[in-house]
Amino acid sequence: MSVRTRVAPSPTGTPHLGTAYIALFNKAYAEQQGGDFILRIEDSDTVRSSKQSEVDILDALKWLDLDWDEGPDIGGSRGPYRVSERLTHYEAHANELIQAGGAFTCFCSQERLDELRREQQRQGETPKYDGHCLALSESEVQRRIDEGESHVVRLRVPDSGDCTFTDRIRGEITIPWQQVDMQVLVKSDGFPTYHLCATVDDHLMGITHILRGEEWISSCPKHVLIYDYFGWQFQELFHLPLLRNKDQSKMSKRKNPTGINYYRDRGYLPEALLNYLATMGWSMPDESEQFSYAQLTEKLDLTRISPRGPVFDVEKLDWLNGCYIRDLPDEELRTRFSSWAGNSANLEKIVSMLKERTERFDQVLTQVDYLIGERKPIDKEDLMQPPLSEEDVVKILDFAARTLECITTWRSDEIGVALRHTAEICDYKVRDFVAPLFVALSGRKVALPLFDSIEVLGLELTRARLRSAIDILGGISNKKLKRLDKEWTTLTQS
Ligand code: GLU
Repeated sequence: MSVRTRVAPSPTGTPHLGTAYIALFNKAYAEQQGGDFILRIEDSDTVRSSKQSEVDILDALKWLDLDWDEGPDIGGSRGPYRVSERLTHYEAHANELIQAGGAFTCFCSQERLDELRREQQRQGETPKYDGHCLALSESEVQRRIDEGESHVVRLRVPDSGDCTFTDRIRGEITIPWQQVDMQVLVKSDGFPTYHLCATVDDHLMGITHILRGEEWISSCPKHVLIYDYFGWQFQELFHLPLLRNKDQSKMSKRKNPTGINYYRDRGYLPEALLNYLATMGWSMPDESEQFSYAQLTEKLDLTRISPRGPVFDVEKLDWLNGCYIRDLPDEELRTRFSSWAGNSANLEKIVSMLKERTERFDQVLTQVDYLIGERKPIDKEDLMQPPLSEEDVVKILDFAARTLECITTWRSDEIGVALRHTAEICDYKVRDFVAPLFVALSGRKVALPLFDSIEVLGLELTRARLRSAIDILGGISNKKLKRLDKEWTTLTQS
């Protein structure tokens, strides 16, 4: 049987390092075994999914050379490769599951479910569905569907006993059925949830090995049930350890940039980033830290992956990237550097910003240093500007980051409107609000227009500079973070 692996990102945001990490091991394993690596787009969340996000994910994976043998852009024998184009498969399988007694139709209203959750929380129980609609007769279900009542399909879960399955990295895992919720499989809009589309697609696409993040372990019992109801053969499972921040917490954008494009824009080489990702949980038999993708595919042994959470350490990545830079022949390095510096989208914006402010080309570099290169070192005094207190400045930097995270169209005019609005609801003069932002982002008090600069820097680099400025001011304690969360919610919801 030929090996088939897959990566199945949801197109709900900017391309994530975790997607590249999972794709890398899936691709390397398929290649080693002479099999196929498949890219499937899980756009089952109709509200959060976007075409742009899908395009960005495909581009980012291609930049890393993680291309696929079958996928939405190139097709293949088991397509289509987008969940939204496979709805008839899920509908047919959901109906079959209902007939077999493995799933049931549920009409419970959101109000009832909310009340149930609150009650269970009051009793100190873990919230989960109570089986209310399990007792409905077939005829009542049909009548209510015919009357157009909104409904979902839920998985029927045994109420006692345990589910045992094997993870090839961790060994046998047992989870009591009591801990497993009667998960929704088909939403009221007819779209499947992850559990239904992932299991049906993995089966129909002939996937033989599933390598994914460890956060999906708790979903396995639901998948085991679906596979058992259909009598399908379960794939070999490998749950790769989650990437972690230096403090061992789950890697998060608050502490580490998590977007692939951040690393591309800062001038990391794709092969260095891939190499570094390959050391997350895996180590070469000879312990070497610098190795190529080809060496990885030659030596990879999935059962040697360690379940202990690997720390994604940017300083270590810098070191490795430096090794790769030094290994490149000068001419190759020149080509790579100029294509990075001349990144056309950014260059266009930078040129139009400079046009009004430049008389000779040799004046360009001093103006755009912070847009193309690193920000100059700054200290506390640089960030403090009257009439703002230190607390004000931290709040402004934090609220600016939160504001930018909510922007859907990354353009300077939208950025300007959003930041001005935040200044207004927080009762700051726009002039005072933007002053620390200038310093945090450019390292200077005066720089090119702020909102245009933010557009060029992109969300991740902007956020990283705002966070580093906050750290220069002493950081935000957990207690203070809670206060800021509360204030932000109140301000933005009123
Ligand atoms: N759509 C899921 C994700 O984005 C896929 C999980 C899986 O690989 O089963 O992580």
